[in-house]
Amino acid sequence: MPSCPLYGDEGRLIDSSDIYGKDFGMLHYCGCDLGGCYVCCRKGTSRPLGTMACLDLRVWRKRDHGAFDPIWRCWKESRSSAYRWIGEEMGLSSKDCHIAMFDQRQCRVVEELSLKKRGKKNGKLSIRVPEGLFGRG
Ligand SMILES: [Zn+2]
Repeated sequence: MPSCPLYGDEGRLIDSSDIYGKDFGMLHYCGCDLGGCYVCCRKGTSRPLGTMACLDLRVWRKRDHGAFDPIWRCWKESRSSAYRWIGEEMGLSSKDCHIAMFDQRQCRVVEELSLKKRGKKNGKLSIRVPEGLFGRG
């Protein structure tokens, strides 16, 4: 059973619509002050898809999907080979290698590696530094 990353309490199984007013299946939910950690379940089951995440971590995981998913969505690479690549970079076995399982530190690494890989492929870096951020002086 997944547990709260801060307090270690086991989440209780709830219906997402009970709390979020939207039905995206069952959740393991914890009502702690980390912003309500939760993890979604595999469709139609009570099997958690990863580890429980607080609000902060959920934002990080979303950012990761934004950086990482285009690698397999837009390129000729399969999803599993993209995960294999990131797993090798991070020294994780494939069963531990999923964004839904990562903590904040790992999320940062995934974002950085993904943007770097995408930048290389496009022949330029895809992160743009806003003009004027670094002065000329
Ligand atoms: Zn919690």
